[in-house]
Amino acid sequence: MAKASARGFRFVLEAADGRARAGTYHTPHGPVETPVFMPVGTQASVKAVSPRALHDLGATVVLANTYHLYLRPGDELIARLGGLHHFMAWDGPILTDSGGFQVFSLADQRRIDEDGVTFRSHLDGSEHRFTPERAIAIQENLGADIIVCLDECADPSDYPYNVRALARTHAWAERCRAAQSRSDQALFGILQGAVYPDLREQSARFLTDLGFDGYAIGGLSVGESKAETYGMLEVVDPLLPPDQPRYLMGVGTPEDLVEGVARGVDMFDCVLPTRMARTGTALTRVGRLVLRNAPFAEDPAPIEPGCTCYACTHFSRAYIRHLIKAKEILAYQLLSIHNLHLLLTMAREMRAAILAGRFQAYREAFWRAANDGL
Ligand SMILES: [Zn+2]
Repeated sequence: MAKASARGFRFVLEAADGRARAGTYHTPHGPVETPVFMPVGTQASVKAVSPRALHDLGATVVLANTYHLYLRPGDELIARLGGLHHFMAWDGPILTDSGGFQVFSLADQRRIDEDGVTFRSHLDGSEHRFTPERAIAIQENLGADIIVCLDECADPSDYPYNVRALARTHAWAERCRAAQSRSDQALFGILQGAVYPDLREQSARFLTDLGFDGYAIGGLSVGESKAETYGMLEVVDPLLPPDQPRYLMGVGTPEDLVEGVARGVDMFDCVLPTRMARTGTALTRVGRLVLRNAPFAEDPAPIEPGCTCYACTHFSRAYIRHLIKAKEILAYQLLSIHNLHLLLTMAREMRAAILAGRFQAYREAFWRAANDGL
């Protein structure tokens, strides 16, 4: 039985150019034009960037992390305060993950069984348990527009283990779907199967048969090669329904955006732009710029010549390097703004290129510039 579509959601595929897609995902908190990059607000805050600045950057949808918000300040507290949109003062769409990825990253701090996963908080060592039902209940309390199933992101090096983990992920997907009680949240299934084409195919078939509002592709960009990541996207692309959104989880370098879109991905998220900013590093179309380094001490140029972001239209590399050396918070704000601007702008450019039927030319121009380097 196909899942009835969540109330207020509709994905309209507007154009396809090769396998690249342009669409609009209508949600109860407004439309999201795709392809889209979603800034990550781990703790219900995109680090160093206010919701107002996010709007100015043209961000339409942001992510928040279930694991972190469940532990602190607590999903029930957020529900009592009116839900995540009100709590973080973001009136656009929000997506929450299931918490699974963080829990499975805890390595020796967690125990998996068929029913769920028991783990210790990284904050105080207290013991907690996520089951599929619990992951859905927490995400219903948080109240994001798009929620996802609890899944297991397994070590890609062990095929027999991945067979078992995938069976568990699929059983949990069925339970998540059955546990959902709100009709105003879209529920995405998460494809797993590491770097094994047969498992990825099995996962795409199982989850699309079950029927979800959209499909997340998990377990990639966790240490495998780019060729493996892209290969898995090519396996699942023809198996996913064309009239529903596809979301590649945790992937978001400039080159991954271009190559993901080229393989049918609509939605991306990644902590990279804000994490890089906190190390004093700028992302550009032609590579990374470590602005804390000495060569920039007297450099009057903007971070990335030609960039129209607030940081690049007002400040020099020399000034930003000075802020980094002086440990001024403004450095991280400006670098975050620039890095987010780059990925958000690239997503918009790719959308325009797809609508105009010139995505392949965009992709070739991107790689020419990237290969010429800094
Ligand atoms: Zn800029």
